[in-house]
Amino acid sequence: IEQKEKYLMPLVNGEIRSCFAMTEPEVSGSDPTMLQSRAELDGNEWVINAHKWFTTGAIGASFSIVMAMTDPDAAPHERFSMFIVDADNPGFEIVREVPVMGDHFAGGHCEVRYTNCRVPKENLLGKRGEGFKLAQLRLGPGRITHAMRWIGVAKRSFDLMVEYSTKRTTRGKTLSEFQTIQNFIADSAAEIEAARLLTLHAAWKMDQGDQARKEISIIKFFGAKVLHDVIDRAIQVHGALGITGDTPLEGFYREARSARIYDGADEVHRMVVAKQVLKAFKKERVTR
Ligand SMILES: Cc1cc2nc3c(=O)[nH]c(=O)nc-3n(C[C@H](O)[C@H](O)[C@H](O)COP(=O)(O)OP(=O)(O)OC[C@H]3O[C@@H](n4cnc5c(N)ncnc54)[C@H](O)[C@@H]3O)c2cc1C
Repeated sequence: IEQKEKYLMPLVNGEIRSCFAMTEPEVSGSDPTMLQSRAELDGNEWVINAHKWFTTGAIGASFSIVMAMTDPDAAPHERFSMFIVDADNPGFEIVREVPVMGDHFAGGHCEVRYTNCRVPKENLLGKRGEGFKLAQLRLGPGRITHAMRWIGVAKRSFDLMVEYSTKRTTRGKTLSEFQTIQNFIADSAAEIEAARLLTLHAAWKMDQGDQARKEISIIKFFGAKVLHDVIDRAIQVHGALGITGDTPLEGFYREARSARIYDGADEVHRMVVAKQVLKAFKKERVTR
């Protein structure tokens, strides 16, 4: 209750920002059991040592939620816990804002060091050893909001593509009269609609109380590809204009590239989907 009052309520009221620190430069973020950050209990305090990067929004955040190993002898998925570290902790140091492809994000994507950060015992988030469980609870809903945002950006790019194709003429015809451009339009319409329905389906499953891991992984990698491909076609239809800053498309394109990496690379989400399909098939001898 104290944690909720001190940290959650000001967050919900929009008075402060937080950031989430899991990824580390030295090890593969796709296999979080490799994370090297450590937290040790010393009396009534946890002592945290960690080196993180890609902590989105770290500059200006009031606190960071840090994933660190607390129980090295436990089963791999029960070794880590999450901690709240205030940004004014003397051991909290923003090393740099990592220069990243795409437009500036408020608070940056930062490299952060935690050197002997002492936090009260109560700053453990949830239970000891439940770091991955909590991360999963946070990342699922986060991923579906990415998918929603991507549909909006894809749709805006689609609108620009269709509008321009009806205005620009070459060889006596508008671009929209050429079959290749019509294929761009038809493929984009189908892909955006598919992404929208997959997102709605995943959201519906979540509303039923299901974690919808397979459905969320499907829209994570499928949605990121639709986003990329639709913007790419919209740029192509605009010709040289498409890569200028005179339309929002080039900005969208730079942003879209990282969608295939953050919150789980495409390959990891495909692996999750394939594993679930195969598991069900082995049990029931049919695909679902
Ligand atoms: C814009 C942005 C914002 C981010 N914000 C945050 C944040 O706020 N907090 C945070 O903690 N992290 C954040 N991240 C980090 C992100 O979650 C990681 O980059 C991601 O999990 C991948 O980890 P990695 O970069 O270490 O790549 P690695 O794990 O080293 O993987 C590299 C590549 O290997 C391949 N690969 C990996 N696993 C497999 C597999 N099983 N099968 C086949 N190929 C595979 C993929 O092609 C992958 O892209 C952010 C990243 C970006 C780009």
